[in-house]
Amino acid sequence: MRTADNGAASGGARKRTALVIGCGVAGPVAAAALQKAGIEPVIYEAHPVAAEGVGAFLGVGLNGIDALRAVELDKPVLARGFPLPRLVIFNGAGKLLADFPNGGTLPDGTGAITISRPDLYSALRDEVVARGVRIEHGKRLVHAEETGGGVRAQFADGGTAEADLLVGADGIHSAVRAVIDPTAPDARYVGFLNTAGYARGIEVPGEPLVNYLVFGKRSFFGWLTAPDGVVWWFANPPRADDPGPQRLAAISSDEWRAQLLESFAGDASPAQALIRHTEHIIASVPTYDMPVVPNWHTERMVIIGDAAHAVSPSAGQGASMSIEDAVTLGKCLRDVPEVAPALARYEVLRRDRVQRVVAQGRSNDRGKTGGPVVRFFRDLFMPLATRRMFRDGRDPFRWIWSHHIDWDEPINQPAARSGNRPG
Ligand SMILES: Cc1cc2nc3c(=O)[nH]c(=O)nc-3n(C[C@H](O)[C@H](O)[C@H](O)COP(=O)(O)OP(=O)(O)OC[C@H]3O[C@@H](n4cnc5c(N)ncnc54)[C@H](O)[C@@H]3O)c2cc1C
Repeated sequence: MRTADNGAASGGARKRTALVIGCGVAGPVAAAALQKAGIEPVIYEAHPVAAEGVGAFLGVGLNGIDALRAVELDKPVLARGFPLPRLVIFNGAGKLLADFPNGGTLPDGTGAITISRPDLYSALRDEVVARGVRIEHGKRLVHAEETGGGVRAQFADGGTAEADLLVGADGIHSAVRAVIDPTAPDARYVGFLNTAGYARGIEVPGEPLVNYLVFGKRSFFGWLTAPDGVVWWFANPPRADDPGPQRLAAISSDEWRAQLLESFAGDASPAQALIRHTEHIIASVPTYDMPVVPNWHTERMVIIGDAAHAVSPSAGQGASMSIEDAVTLGKCLRDVPEVAPALARYEVLRRDRVQRVVAQGRSNDRGKTGGPVVRFFRDLFMPLATRRMFRDGRDPFRWIWSHHIDWDEPINQPAARSGNRPG
């Protein structure tokens, strides 16, 4: 069943091929999963060079690590990140609101991690290149069409490429999504911006490897101390309207630093000190998630990751959902002989779960953007509610982090579907 060449297994004489659009998180993981399923992928990435040295950091949940392990990509990622086993939440007056574990662990003790975005991207990319996957940079997809027996992609540089199927892993502003369904919704602004930095030469209260989060009086702030003593922080200044990336880019870094300092004035947190100790503040971006995207695939094209269902960063699950998608898609294409039913099966297996996680992210957002009434009840009830939710080893987020993908489990039999780990 798990043949090295599923094309041959399904009656074809040659190995099936795939165009993977985008080399962020979902793209290289999909390439690894397709390769493992006996399909030959080529990745086409819009950026002319690998995007090194830019971007902030993100969490990969236990479920993301588990899914990476299914295609042997966990080790390179774990090697560049560090564990983040606990979350502690305060309000702007310094009142402790919650203190709870950041998911469970795998049988070998591995848990959720934090990693810089460039490190995550390069860990995945380097590993798939080492496995023989070709990546073409400077290839921005502008159109694609099905050709009967396959699919043809057109790029902004005038080039084209053909294969048996096309995987759109091209992120939240996906071009493939618009090709699959020109009426598909656009990304939805969630009401706050996102910026971050790395502060050096400063000690902050608390323990290393714990994510401290503060619902400040005006703005949300988070920080953690990395193993080398550098303090990683991020901020979510609320803003009612979507300024768009261009208007934000026009704000100078000095102006931006002054605005951030002002927004944390009076909060009982190290936010202002950390901002002052940060040489370079990472450019602020508007934050989006995706409304429901009705169509994820055609006969030979499919979207995965943020292209299909971007999750607000407040859920800490966007990367992990992208990884789960990519591995599940590989399994479907391995086990369902024809492309179109395999893509349909992928959607059935993924849609309910990712939409639930998107909803969780929106619910978490409300704590960041809510008015005085939301803040009053949050501060009053969160400590008690959190204690109750985590009482006796329970965890209300277990359904997210305990999700397990067993690569060897066949996809076709509903009784054997991937699901949550017990315990
Ligand atoms: C500020 C911020 C904080 C976040 N924090 C977290 C967190 O803590 N935890 C978490 O799990 N997630 C977090 N996320 C979300 C996470 O970054 C995304 O969910 C994840 O990167 C999605 O992976 P992807 O591969 O689908 O898309 P991306 O990582 O965006 O990759 C898409 C790739 O496609 C390329 N591309 C785009 N258009 C084209 C085209 N037309 N042709 C070819 N290539 C194209 C892009 O250049 C890019 O390389 C955060 C996101 C933001 C913005």
